[in-house]
Amino acid sequence: MADTMTTPNSLSREYDNQAQDSSPESSNGRAIVLHPNSRNHGIWSFSRGTIITAAFALLLGPLTFFWPQQQPCDPTDYAERTRRILKQTPLIDGHNDLPLMFRLELRNQIYDERFDFNNRLLGHTDLSRMRQGMMGGQFWSVFIDCDAKQKHFEDPSWVVRDTLEQIDVTHRFIEQYRKDLQFCDTPSCVRKAFRSGRIASMIGIEGGHQLGSSIGSVRQMYSLGARYMTLTHNCDNAFATSATTVATGGVDHGLTKLGREVIEEMNRLGMMVDLSHVSHQTMRDVLGIAKAPVIFSHSGAYQTTQHLRNVPDDVLRQLKYNGGVVMAVFLNGFLNKENPSAATIHDVVDHIFHIADVCGWDCVGIGADFFGPSFAPTGLEDVSKYPNLIELVMQRGATDSQAQSLAGENILRVWEQVERKAQQIQATGRKPIESEYSEREWTKGFAEDPYMLRGSRERLAADAPPMPDVYNTGKKTDTSGP
Ligand SMILES: [Zn+2]
Repeated sequence: MADTMTTPNSLSREYDNQAQDSSPESSNGRAIVLHPNSRNHGIWSFSRGTIITAAFALLLGPLTFFWPQQQPCDPTDYAERTRRILKQTPLIDGHNDLPLMFRLELRNQIYDERFDFNNRLLGHTDLSRMRQGMMGGQFWSVFIDCDAKQKHFEDPSWVVRDTLEQIDVTHRFIEQYRKDLQFCDTPSCVRKAFRSGRIASMIGIEGGHQLGSSIGSVRQMYSLGARYMTLTHNCDNAFATSATTVATGGVDHGLTKLGREVIEEMNRLGMMVDLSHVSHQTMRDVLGIAKAPVIFSHSGAYQTTQHLRNVPDDVLRQLKYNGGVVMAVFLNGFLNKENPSAATIHDVVDHIFHIADVCGWDCVGIGADFFGPSFAPTGLEDVSKYPNLIELVMQRGATDSQAQSLAGENILRVWEQVERKAQQIQATGRKPIESEYSEREWTKGFAEDPYMLRGSRERLAADAPPMPDVYNTGKKTDTSGP
């Protein structure tokens, strides 16, 4: 696994001091020249100018502290370089399963006095460690597991209801800690939150099964604030084949017809398509039709560790063309298949460099998947450790601007492009997609219903299902009433 990895020679090892082009010709060849006013040659005008200059210097003096790269920095002082980078660019993580802990441990009763996000908690995430990790943004996953009892995508399930509850608890959690967290559904909100010192908090749905096979659901999830959806989790659904299916010997059918339509609808809405968890063929199929960049919210490079959850090189090359991003996962099993407990921060850096080598530095991001598994790689044990990753990436040769791209600029760029593409599509007047799952069963009507169209009564009331005796009255069910 890691031994297959070499640091790409193509990467610049130079320290990128991000020197600003100070040439007066730097902007579109047009120079800004300040002409001295020939009428102001008197002593008063001289002293007035001096006073004004001095006043400006006094006013602006303290602000220069915040201006980037004002003081030269020792290129080998990776901690200082990281600190400077993370003051300019929000460090954004693509995937954290904390909301699932609210569900499992608190039944979503987050006002329970046993839970205080300000306190040191077990597990990987709490507020003080997020601050220590200099985090600027987090996509919180509103994950509900695949329903093992469901044998058919039309079988009854609680998954959609439970997903709504996870969205609800995540919104309440962000609001409860609003001094430090800010809900964001746009990339501009993320930058604003970052400038105000808050950690931008976004919502991602981890699995198309959480839509109940319905494209209407994806529109509603979007309107509730979800800004990415992982196309599958560890089960197939009406849209696509998952990596787990292939790993357990199943056939890789890739994207279904309805799956192609859900991609089209997500592009129209401006919702990011997440390809973590999907099969390799699904990745290829989506990249073949996506009109906007896609993301992998928590995945690695398959060439580095041959785990089917990771992204193969041909897909990385397609991704370069697509403009998307792979947010590097910290999951031990995806980093070291043979000996997961031996996974370290160096393995994560190997994955990042491989992705950058094949796809470019515009393709890398961070998606730890904290609170997903119990164990994290040595050196990246919790959310306080992100700066270590940035430091190590620079130690291995990444420039400041490459490290900034990794930390957050890439995912923000992708999100901005997804938004722009949606605006373009909507401007064409494209209607929301009304396609349905091919084996969808619709509710039947009753003989007394006031139908709108001729023929509906005959068609719908003929085989109306019996009403369930939900009140347990023991009375014969009347199926003809309203
Ligand atoms: Zn996952």
